[in-house]
Amino acid sequence: MSKKRYPPRQAWGFLRLLIPRLSPYKGALAAAGVLLLLATGIGLAFPLVVRELLDSAFLAGDASLLNRIALGLLGLFAVQAVINFGQSYLTASTSERVVAVLRQDLFKALVYQPPGFFDTRRVGELTSRISSDTGLIQGVLRFGIPELVRQGVFLIGALILVTVTHAHLTLATLAAIPFTALVGWILGKRVRRLSTNIQDRLAEAVSRAEQVFTQIQVVQAFTREGWEEERFRGEVDAVRDEGLRRAVARAGLAGAVTFSAFGAIVLVLWEGGRLVLEGALTPGTLVAFLLYAVTIAGAIMSLAGFWGNLQEAAGAAERIFELIERPPELRAPEAPAILSRPVRGEVMYEGVSFRYGPELPLVLDGIEVEIGQGERVALVGSSGAGKSTMASLIPRFYDVENGEVRLDGVDVRRIGLQELRSHIGIVPQEPMLFAGTIRENLAYGRLGASDLEIREVARMAHAHEFITGFPDGYEQIVGERGVTLSAGQRQRIAIARVMLRKPAVLILDEASSSLDAESEALVQDALDHLMAGRTTVVIAHRLSTVIRADGILVLDGGAIVDRGNHAELLHRSEVYHRLYRRQFDDALASTREVDI
Ligand code: ADP
Repeated sequence: MSKKRYPPRQAWGFLRLLIPRLSPYKGALAAAGVLLLLATGIGLAFPLVVRELLDSAFLAGDASLLNRIALGLLGLFAVQAVINFGQSYLTASTSERVVAVLRQDLFKALVYQPPGFFDTRRVGELTSRISSDTGLIQGVLRFGIPELVRQGVFLIGALILVTVTHAHLTLATLAAIPFTALVGWILGKRVRRLSTNIQDRLAEAVSRAEQVFTQIQVVQAFTREGWEEERFRGEVDAVRDEGLRRAVARAGLAGAVTFSAFGAIVLVLWEGGRLVLEGALTPGTLVAFLLYAVTIAGAIMSLAGFWGNLQEAAGAAERIFELIERPPELRAPEAPAILSRPVRGEVMYEGVSFRYGPELPLVLDGIEVEIGQGERVALVGSSGAGKSTMASLIPRFYDVENGEVRLDGVDVRRIGLQELRSHIGIVPQEPMLFAGTIRENLAYGRLGASDLEIREVARMAHAHEFITGFPDGYEQIVGERGVTLSAGQRQRIAIARVMLRKPAVLILDEASSSLDAESEALVQDALDHLMAGRTTVVIAHRLSTVIRADGILVLDGGAIVDRGNHAELLHRSEVYHRLYRRQFDDALASTREVDI
């Protein structure tokens, strides 16, 4: 992990992130600010009242003055309590609202990012932006900034008051500041660096745990539980060791700051006591002075602590800001073209080349293909040939480097993404369902689909039978904490879900793992229903699929090396022949499916 630096631009990130989101709450914030100043003012007045008490009431032996001052103080603190309540509520409620908006904005920014964005990031890292980074910012809004204002005003107010009261003694109060600042600066930097290390290492450990849990079958099949346990133990031990080092630095910081604060107080007491003995200072003034000195010391201590929190939050803000303000990788067309209805579903690749990143090699090179309305085209080629990549360009999951991909003659980059994708249906190789009811999972295909429509597509996709077999039927919870569906059942749900959309173009990624014969036949029949009358691009893994395709494209190393039908290709294409031979021998063994 590289060391993270905290450049000043982070402060910008923090402000640019928060100012627009805070501006709707200007009124509440201004009110909170005024209340905060009032409460601080009362706090600052307290030592002056005590001085009055000591110098006037005690010296004059005036019991009634004492009573009045005590009552007055009680009243003052009651008012302060009400003010604190108001201020605390206003800042807390504003911070809740702002963080809610921040989380919503962040999710919105992420969910529209193209798949390429997610290819290079860990999901755990993105979710932690939504939960913990925004949490850090909430903490700063809720406690940090009010505390900064409060302690800042205390510090400045108390300094002004002590200077006005007795400039000479003020120097004694300030004597400790350079020392405190130096220690705070040195140790503070260390604490911050260690904190960053801890967060990074913890993120590593948690991410490893996440991977272990999602691949638990692999871990257990290789009986690597003990090994993983050791590894995790090592990572967490490292976090603990860094934490211990941070504890030493923090304790050192606390000790040094406390010592210098109380040292300053002793200095005031000593120097002030001398002045009292000389009769140059009243005892009341000295006590008031001491109270201010304590206030100043307290303010310096909290500001030092707050500095660390602020930097942490600034780091979090910068990370969030980078995500929220990311320019979209796929530019939306300025004047989106609307396809003429009915959409025919003609797909065309013209001189298409593509790579996943500027430094990565070409994955597709010079692809020229025309797929007519309702045609069924099979993509074949060995693993890594570029089949999935080629298919993923139709819904514009990625943008081409050169050439054009067209739907009904229009460059997909000129069609609005919503419009484009509304005409495309995708059945992935291993469909996943969301945790929720089966009905919700089906309705994902088209929000607002009626129950009747949902049942109809479920019937066509051969899903109705097994769904009604569940105790709760369509309301059966699947996924997390629900029943788990078999691969074939999930495929049929995915097929029904796409049927609801009635897309003009279909992209099928055939499952390469085999289903049992009955399931296989049901899935195949469901697919036949789905494909009827639709342009279909299928990443083929089965012999039956290629035999029935209108055309086969043979991909090798990102280029189309041959095209034709099964018989032609078998006859003339060496690559196809090799693929076919390799898979056909397997097929003889299983007699059921051929993996091409
Ligand atoms: P196929 O579907 O034929 O197995 P793919 O289209 O998945 O092939 O992959 C083609 C090439 O692109 C492979 O070399 C693969 O490593 C690379 N590739 C696929 N997806 C990505 C990605 N998201 N980022 C970078 N490279 C990728």
